[in-house]
Amino acid sequence: MARSPHMSSSRRLLARLRDIMAGGGRVQERLDQIVRAIANDLVAEVCSVYILRTGDVLELFANVGLLPEAVHRTRLRLGEGLIGVIAQRARSLALSDAQSHPAFAYRPETGEEIYHSLAGVPIIRTGRVIGVLAVQNRTRRQYTGEEIETLETIAMVTAEMIASSEVESGDDHPTLDGVTREPVSIDGLRLNGGLAMGLAVRHERRLKIEKLVAENPDAEKRRLERALAEMYGAIDEMLESDDLVQGGEHRDILEAYRMFAEDAGWLSRIDEAITSGLTAEAAVEKVRNDTRARFRSQTDPYLRERLHDFDDLAHRLLQHLVGREGMTGVVGPLPDDIILIARNMGPAELLDYDRTKLKGLVLEEGSATTHVAIVAKAFDIPVVGRATDILDVVNNLDPIVVDGDNADVHIRPTEEVRQVYAAALSARAVRLAAYASLRGEPAISTDGVRISLNINGGLLADIQDLQESGADGVGLYRTEIPFMARSDFPDVDQQAEIYTRVFDLAGDKPVVFRTLDVGGDKNLPYWREEDGENPALGWRAVRVALDRPSLMRHQMRALIRAAAGRPLTIMFPMITEVAEFDQARALLDLELELAVTRKRKLPEKLRVGTMLEVPALAFQLKSLLERADFISVGSNDLFQFLFASDRGSTRLADRYDTLAPAALAFLRRLVEECDAAGKPISLCGEIAGRPLEAMTLIGLGFRSLSMAPSSLGPVKAMVRSLAVGELTRYITALGTGSEHSLRENLREFARDHGVAV
Ligand code: PEP
Ligand code: MG
Repeated sequence: MARSPHMSSSRRLLARLRDIMAGGGRVQERLDQIVRAIANDLVAEVCSVYILRTGDVLELFANVGLLPEAVHRTRLRLGEGLIGVIAQRARSLALSDAQSHPAFAYRPETGEEIYHSLAGVPIIRTGRVIGVLAVQNRTRRQYTGEEIETLETIAMVTAEMIASSEVESGDDHPTLDGVTREPVSIDGLRLNGGLAMGLAVRHERRLKIEKLVAENPDAEKRRLERALAEMYGAIDEMLESDDLVQGGEHRDILEAYRMFAEDAGWLSRIDEAITSGLTAEAAVEKVRNDTRARFRSQTDPYLRERLHDFDDLAHRLLQHLVGREGMTGVVGPLPDDIILIARNMGPAELLDYDRTKLKGLVLEEGSATTHVAIVAKAFDIPVVGRATDILDVVNNLDPIVVDGDNADVHIRPTEEVRQVYAAALSARAVRLAAYASLRGEPAISTDGVRISLNINGGLLADIQDLQESGADGVGLYRTEIPFMARSDFPDVDQQAEIYTRVFDLAGDKPVVFRTLDVGGDKNLPYWREEDGENPALGWRAVRVALDRPSLMRHQMRALIRAAAGRPLTIMFPMITEVAEFDQARALLDLELELAVTRKRKLPEKLRVGTMLEVPALAFQLKSLLERADFISVGSNDLFQFLFASDRGSTRLADRYDTLAPAALAFLRRLVEECDAAGKPISLCGEIAGRPLEAMTLIGLGFRSLSMAPSSLGPVKAMVRSLAVGELTRYITALGTGSEHSLRENLREFARDHGVAV
């Protein structure tokens, strides 16, 4: 097959670049050689590399053709001049008469007035622009699309070279990866409290691409074809094995995804990149980088979603080309104090990190209900979400402080800030030691009221610590968490295995198994459902289970099997009306009958209860309590429905208080009705883990609470310093007035009565 002259020129240049890179040396020397090689090969009189430095300034870093004194002196802000525009838009630009362009900014020190035409391309790495590569000519030259393509390919290789080089130290905290080195503080959203200091690790689903330049494009194309075939096969398998929602919307999504994987435009761009001399993996990465750069400037949510699909596809394809072993984030060993920084991530991905080293998590996106936050909570690490654009300013291994309580992140903190937090951390360590000493002590108030304190869990690790934690049991076992940590839907055997281990680890301590609460914002990686505009009010939890009874029955079968003669406690999430409880219960009865037919050991004792998360259910409480053995209030969901206030919304986070009169009146009513019916009530939302709120709940009559394991110590200390009788009288007298919140009154009570909140 005849090759176009452009293709051979591109490959020749890449081969030359490979030699330059293999030759080692300082970044500066190598960039100097690169610009000379490009100018030679593309017959350009000028070739320049600009690099993004501190404060969003593009500095002329290497050049041939302009006046030598311009190097390191010429600086343009993002958006300033043609170079600044290319960087800002992350788009290539080719102009036969650059000086007549409105954005042209003349810099006398460069002597560039004699050059008329200009072609420039962004240097992009992991979706971020880190510089610009440009050529100029005296004549009014029309650069061809192929020449631009060649420049883009070279820019990609240059980006890798810059990123893998030692960062040079110098005057003004220079950076070669486009990220500033100055201290930066970012406000986010509190997803989990706590405080941590450590070193930043950017969670990038990157694959280590060892070889960028290929000798034989045909061989690379064959590799690409094989990888594509493997990837198609894997997606087809996902489609076939997807017995969860056959024919449902999920299938449509997967099918659309499969269609994208065959997108002609995407494939031909990869093909072109290989033809220009890149290896198959480098070509996929190049196209992925271009897509990501576009993604960053795209505001249309639909298009963002599609671009995200292509990003995901590229990642999958790279896995087939490089293998999972090639996955890397930080080059070299991970630090002992990892502060993980991610755009967003699934819970399974968090589990890939060494739990003992993970000290904090910061997400660019994320809300309080994202499951990675729940898993992180189980790890007892501070989590800050909505840390806008943090990935633009943080480098791997930057020192970083995560203040989960105040939702602040301090990157490269000054010595003063560092010292303040170091002091806070050691004070916290002293407090934790005090809580630890309470482990063996009972949660009894000063006037002898016993409060049952339980933990919320979902990972085996949570249950592992149950015996030493001093908790009475597991008040909420979120069964969706092990589902989320997998790459496919577990069958009955696999589920039974997980639950058996939970039973074994819990020993004689009771565990409340909540049936699957997926949908809404709790997505399984292998199951994406369109859930409309209001996922929290959508097709989720027991609503899914009742529409897909086999899903619920499989889970119950697994639970009955795992209990194997031990007591079993089951709880349904998001029950909205008694009829739903009846339907769910009927499915359980079918499974019990099946167990009898199959001569399986039945649970020694069975308790079936429900979460109370939807206000409507409170108005059917009498009938509900005739059927349910207990209720557990899910205040996270309940309050968002009660106040019509999204639990993940930053804007609304402080608008309504959990200690508002309406909330307390609602809860009091629930307790009174349960007490009258002689049925136990407990509460397992976040507020159970906050001492002041927990105190209030006890004052309202709750005697059982379930919380994140890390909250046990503070809540137990509170209980042991509290006189329940006095508090009950106080709260009753307080009544329900017109105030926005009763928080201050309750805080005052605690202060006056020496309650440790
Ligand atoms: C709740 O809604 O309060 C609850 C405990 O359930 P989850 O947080 O899992 O939705
Ligand atoms: Mg809930």
